[in-house]
Amino acid sequence: MINFQETLDEIYADLSSITTRGTVATYIPELACVNGDKFGIHLIDANGMSYSVGDADEAFSIQSISKVLSLTLAFSIRGDKLWQRVGVEPSGDPFNHLSLLEMENGIPRNPLINAGAIVIADVLVSQLKKPKEDFLSYIQKITNDETIDYDPKVAKSEKDTGFRNYAAANLLKSYGNIENDVETVLDFYFHQCSLRMSCKQLANVFYMFMNRGKCLMNNEYLNINHVKRINALMLSCGFYDEAGEFAFEVGLPGKSGVGGGIVALLPNKFCVATWSPGLNAKGNSLLGMKALEQLTTKTGLSIF
Ligand code: GLU
Repeated sequence: MINFQETLDEIYADLSSITTRGTVATYIPELACVNGDKFGIHLIDANGMSYSVGDADEAFSIQSISKVLSLTLAFSIRGDKLWQRVGVEPSGDPFNHLSLLEMENGIPRNPLINAGAIVIADVLVSQLKKPKEDFLSYIQKITNDETIDYDPKVAKSEKDTGFRNYAAANLLKSYGNIENDVETVLDFYFHQCSLRMSCKQLANVFYMFMNRGKCLMNNEYLNINHVKRINALMLSCGFYDEAGEFAFEVGLPGKSGVGGGIVALLPNKFCVATWSPGLNAKGNSLLGMKALEQLTTKTGLSIF
């Protein structure tokens, strides 16, 4: 029997004294205010037992991790029709690159890069009655937690500086791959990225991807085939242009965000979220990746 709490304690003891923690993202000015010393891990196993260390209960900006959740809702509404508008291949490029988009006629490589997530945001704006409210209540329902909310300051900060996302959305619009007006779609996208959640809340919401589509309350949000596809996308596209390195070091499907969060899971075994705001050169949390590498190495549990 693996003792997850002991394993997390060991990892925390080993890593929490490290001072080289990468760089906190500053391109969204509001994110630069975060204390780079924060570090937390929360793990939930297949029986719903939880294990925590450090700042696992403190909410932070989940940023790109939200792309998995918007994709999940859009996929459950639109099914395979979604793939007419967005691909499923890793990009091998940074998250905000535009060159491929032009080369590939406005069909983003995958739904986890910015351009792809903006197309998904457009799908949700078309499909939901009150997009921002409905998306938030979807997340609150999955986690049974009404304290989860957007951070209007972060959303505004990103809107004021999101020139590349405006460029991507306009390019997509010019190819006919955005139905709604660019302003409305980006307003939704900036809000979804501004969601504030703790490691514990993140592990709880991603529990369904390790539990065959069923949330902690046993309600089904996705069927098993949809879970397979989303986990595959997380594995191949969830870590910017470092998905190969993450698979090599950690060996789990997951998703990171520039707020320093990472969530990863092993189907039918556990779901884990880490938070340390300092990022490596590729934009993934430096300490978070180290912690997850240690977790899968110490426990021998990975998809490989
Ligand atoms: N909202 C961020 C952006 O669009 C998300 C970046 C990320 O976490 O990768 O730039």
